[in-house]
Amino acid sequence: MPKPDPHSAGRLWIEEGENHTDLVATVAPLAPIDKPYSYVVPSELADRLEVGQRVLVPMGKRGRLMEGFCIALGTEHWQNPLRPIDSLIDDQSYLSPHLLDLGRWMSRHYYCPLGLTLAALVPEAVRRKSGFVTVRRVRLIRSCEAIISEPGRIGPKSQALLETLEQAESPLEVEALLAQARTTAATLRSAVNKGWVEIITERRPKPPPSWDVPRVEPTFSLNQSQTEACERIGEKIEAGGFSVTLLYGVSGSGKTEVYIRAMRQVLGQGRQVILLVPEIALTTQLVQRLAARFDDVAVVHSGLRGPDRSLTWTAIAGGSRRVVIGTRSAVFAPCSQPGLIVVDEEQESSYKNLQAPRFHVRDVAIKRAQMLGIPVLLGSATPSLESWLNCTRMGHYERVDLPRRVRDLPMPQVEIADMRTRSPTRQDLPVLCHALKAKVAETLGRQEQAVILINRRGYASMIWCPTCHWRLCCSHCNVGMVFHLSKGQATCHYCRTRVTVPELCPNPSCRTPVLQSGAGTQRVEQELAEAFPKARIVRADSDTMKRGCDYQHLVDRLSSREIDILIGTQMIGKGLDFPHVSFVGMVSADLVGLSSDFRSSERLFQLITQVAGRAGRERAGGYVVIQTLMPDVTAVQAAVQHDFERFAADELEMRQRLGFPPFTRLTRFVFADPRERHLRNVVESFAADLRRHIADLPAPGADLLGPQPCILRRLRGSYRYDLLLRTGHSDIMHRILDRLRGGGSPRPQVKTFVVDVDPLSLA
Ligand code: ADP
Ligand code: ZN
Ligand code: ZN
Repeated sequence: MPKPDPHSAGRLWIEEGENHTDLVATVAPLAPIDKPYSYVVPSELADRLEVGQRVLVPMGKRGRLMEGFCIALGTEHWQNPLRPIDSLIDDQSYLSPHLLDLGRWMSRHYYCPLGLTLAALVPEAVRRKSGFVTVRRVRLIRSCEAIISEPGRIGPKSQALLETLEQAESPLEVEALLAQARTTAATLRSAVNKGWVEIITERRPKPPPSWDVPRVEPTFSLNQSQTEACERIGEKIEAGGFSVTLLYGVSGSGKTEVYIRAMRQVLGQGRQVILLVPEIALTTQLVQRLAARFDDVAVVHSGLRGPDRSLTWTAIAGGSRRVVIGTRSAVFAPCSQPGLIVVDEEQESSYKNLQAPRFHVRDVAIKRAQMLGIPVLLGSATPSLESWLNCTRMGHYERVDLPRRVRDLPMPQVEIADMRTRSPTRQDLPVLCHALKAKVAETLGRQEQAVILINRRGYASMIWCPTCHWRLCCSHCNVGMVFHLSKGQATCHYCRTRVTVPELCPNPSCRTPVLQSGAGTQRVEQELAEAFPKARIVRADSDTMKRGCDYQHLVDRLSSREIDILIGTQMIGKGLDFPHVSFVGMVSADLVGLSSDFRSSERLFQLITQVAGRAGRERAGGYVVIQTLMPDVTAVQAAVQHDFERFAADELEMRQRLGFPPFTRLTRFVFADPRERHLRNVVESFAADLRRHIADLPAPGADLLGPQPCILRRLRGSYRYDLLLRTGHSDIMHRILDRLRGGGSPRPQVKTFVVDVDPLSLA
């Protein structure tokens, strides 16, 4: 048999017809390819290759080398011609068999090729092994005495070098050796050349970044509901096995304290815990609080730079960090002994990954726990309707309630300001209503802080002509542009195109002065500054908050009371805990600005509830004013009364009537291309294929909505269409997707093709 030639990456070296029993690796390439490939493992790699490791393999006719994960190894009887693996990329596997199984499930469920899915499980930095330092140490090969007794002169420097090494118990690092022996690199080089010493190179991890903040234990004891919740969850942890518990408690009811007790119980069993939180920038406060309660915390988030991330990963895998707190990717933390996964604010939309694999962290966490046979704890004040249904009608999850705020603090009082009476064309009218401003004045008078939330950045979100209804839109995206004060220009929030705002309507026969309505953060800031000239006002939106430390700075300034009024977009409504804020105003609690699909009421309810939850967390007397154009809708009415259960019952009934999740499963196919006619042809034929697959099902259980233009019809120069596959049960969805993947339909030839299983947004 010919030996594999390392340069013959593309050639077959096992000829057809021969019978061979060789080590064969199954490899999932990091490419949009659905099927794994088999390769022969060359003998020199045979004892180094493990399942989970990355390899370079030849692909296609020309044998271009491509990265892939080895997903199985076996000595099988092969008759087909196989090409050999070219080389190994990693010297160890980063995927345990368990994580590999989780990856397989995700690949199928989220319709994403296995190789690409596995790549999402192992952070880039970990794969590059950044953060490891190279250590070069020198070792004596022969005894010093033997070398000196040899014929030939040995210089004093060389002798010093050899003696220093001999006196040292173990090999010395190069720099230390040269310093101790008072000699130079040239001497060392000649000693190596003469075969007296050798240099050993090692890659060693640096210690991971530490979160050892001072330990602080609270002085309060748990209240009755917290105690009961801890007992109930404790029983599940004690019993072991898979279970899902939803900790349902209003904001400020002390959920975090319950997580901490549960986590400690698991640590006491000698196991690890993973606590998942939404976007970390918003949760630095939570991380600080938790880090102060545990000894060995690892924090995993998107802001963690290369080396820190890879070192943290290594420390978790090695078991030296037992508490993992993090955002999305932390759900894949390589814990060897996980005992519990906690998902805080389980309804948060930032848990959905926006690139393939388009997974949802909560759902992956539940799947992972099920595979491991461990409990999951979900927490929320406004649970997703998916989780709620699983508790109530399905009985898949158990619900544990914390019905009241701790220390019996009342929920804030919420007032609705009906804005319908305002004429939308009167741009000279103030954006903030009288009731809201009066409350801000009272709050400032009591030396307390106010937070004003507005859902839009910029100054005005709609630039238009009142006569002919022309509207300034982005020429690439077909969405309205937002006017920003500092730049004096309008910007598209999707593609960042900028144009100068015209003073007159560009319609030649019209020429009416244009209006700017739909106030943004900048406009509100201006109005408050005029009304309260002495107040210290700060605006927090993604124009002013760019880095994680900006949040920290903001939190510090708020707690030291350097700010009287904070204005911000919904980013400030989430996670931040401001003890001295007694008033919260919400400028436009409307569906505008939230994308309009079947989930918009749910989002509106969550937004109002979250924002209202910021008021009066420390003392009684919190007050909230909500300006809205839709005071009668259930989402607003129920949020005002802090009545999630009423909202959920109402909304679930509607979803069931319309056949939407959580009563059905959706898969969304998005097609985008600059050539509109071509795009429509492709979409139509794809839809026809899907209909055929649906018709082939033994029983009816699926339908197809569309094709239709997306809500965002044009984006960055491409037209967009979508199709929604709706199935009654996930089994049916999987069967249809399997058929698509199985080669039933070729991949659509358009610029962008996205498959989004369980989509959160339909924009
Ligand atoms: P949630 O996560 O439900 O919004 P937190 O856990 O953040 O609530 O608790 C709100 C505040 O109340 C925190 O500052 C916390 O330290 C405090 N707290 C929690 N439990 C108690 C308790 N039993 N008695 C007094 N204060 C408590
Ligand atoms: Zn006009
Ligand atoms: Zn645009």
